[in-house]
Amino acid sequence: MTKKSDNDSAPGAFVQVYQGNDATESYLIRDWLTRNGIHADVRGFDLLTASGEIPFGQQWPTLWVAQRNVDAARKLIDSYSEPVQLEAVWTCTACEEVNEPNFASCWSCSVEKPGIQ
Ligand SMILES: [Zn+2]
Repeated sequence: MTKKSDNDSAPGAFVQVYQGNDATESYLIRDWLTRNGIHADVRGFDLLTASGEIPFGQQWPTLWVAQRNVDAARKLIDSYSEPVQLEAVWTCTACEEVNEPNFASCWSCSVEKPGIQ
């Protein structure tokens, strides 16, 4: 068949596998993939300053992996988003200390996280 340069042997053959709602989410997924042996790039912000080629409406941070890793990356992203809820930090109602999302009670005064069952 004809030889195309845009296959998985080309250096630029990256495929978008994820679009985050914000940069933090994209970087969390990126780290998750990296820990599982898949190199991923977060794109979006850097492109804005790089060339001006990016059209308006395409400015959300996106996650890209090499074409050969697309299937594995998508599976990992699925397995990441199922059990892990991406939560925000919360503020203690008693002492107003800011706590990490995984803390069930305030690290400072031990008051329970609001809304916890
Ligand atoms: Zn507290």
